[in-house]
Amino acid sequence: MDKSFIINQLAEEREKYFHSVAPPIIQTSNFAYPTVDEFTHAIKHEKDEHIYTRGNNPTVSILAQKIAALEGAEDCLMVGSGAAAITNSVMSQLKAGDQIISVKNPYTWANHLFTKILPRFDVETIFVDGKDVFNFENAINPKTRLIYLESPNSWTFELQDLEQIAILAKKHGIVTVIDNSYCTALCQQPIKYGIDLVIYSATKYYNGHSDVVAGAICGSKEMITQIFHNEFMTFGNILAPQNAWLMIRSLRTLAVRLKQSSESTLKIIDFLKRSPLIEEVIYPFLSDNSQYNLAQKQMTMPMGMFTVRLKCRDMVKLKQFCEKLQYFLIAVSWGGYESLIMPKCAFVAEDDENVNLVRFYIGLEDADVLIEDIENALKVFDTV
Ligand SMILES: *Cc1c(COP(=O)(O)O)cnc(C)c1O
Repeated sequence: MDKSFIINQLAEEREKYFHSVAPPIIQTSNFAYPTVDEFTHAIKHEKDEHIYTRGNNPTVSILAQKIAALEGAEDCLMVGSGAAAITNSVMSQLKAGDQIISVKNPYTWANHLFTKILPRFDVETIFVDGKDVFNFENAINPKTRLIYLESPNSWTFELQDLEQIAILAKKHGIVTVIDNSYCTALCQQPIKYGIDLVIYSATKYYNGHSDVVAGAICGSKEMITQIFHNEFMTFGNILAPQNAWLMIRSLRTLAVRLKQSSESTLKIIDFLKRSPLIEEVIYPFLSDNSQYNLAQKQMTMPMGMFTVRLKCRDMVKLKQFCEKLQYFLIAVSWGGYESLIMPKCAFVAEDDENVNLVRFYIGLEDADVLIEDIENALKVFDTV
């Protein structure tokens, strides 16, 4: 199924809503049935029918069907945040005594789940350098139940070989989960490589307008149905119909937004690589990156976020640089229309080895304008 059809047509049953081109927001908590028998039937098939919006809602379903199809997955559950996608998917696979193998430095709240919450339920997590498949192989033991991936992660952009890890996991009967937020399905389709569950912070590229927090879990019909009847219905962290509607609207422009962000990023990195004030650009799609070949194999295009290591380590000057940027807002998150920076100096002391890292997200502004902005801000280092 081609992506344009998925984004513009799939799951839109216009004859059901006055042939309107844009789908309606079905803003309701519950659904009524004319007869007891129809009600009984719907309750028995809650996953596919409409009973209550904590389970299913028609506006949310349109979005879920589109995300599943883009992913090449049999099914998808939309949830209220990326964090909910992490907790619902991970916890659905575990019981007391199990062990997780996770990539080092996963997303902050995945890390919190692994190190603070799951140990209370006797689930332990081993963290490994995901660049080498052997590290996963060495960590596997009879308790290993789940392998957690993030390829690339969103600060240092290390990749994992998805195909090799999926083969290894299948051999040992271990479930694989990947946070694919950085790539989206347009850049990387982990299910194709044999990964079981693909999760998203849909707040980022999928929504793309910095106005909705959302998450998605994609996988086989069997696994998603299992999660639906258990964690999803119980934890209750659903996506509201209004937010699903905004996301359907956002999806219409996903491909053009990614293209613009990607093209601008390459231009900006090209400028940064030539600056004597910059020590290093950390980005998978650079020919001098040790994982460049793997990036080219697994990812179909360069994406819009990278980290820069500045030469200067002076806290005052680093802050001045960040504040002098006019177009790059100082903020968490990424994937929206607006360019952002996340400076490490906001979180660490001056003597930290990473104090000079600044993460850049490239939004939809004109690339030349962004380059000019960076060039101007870099002037604060001229006197170093
Ligand atoms: C933001 C983010 C999350 C969490 O998503 P929310 O929608 O903020 O809950 C998870 N993983 C990655 C890589 C993220 O960037």
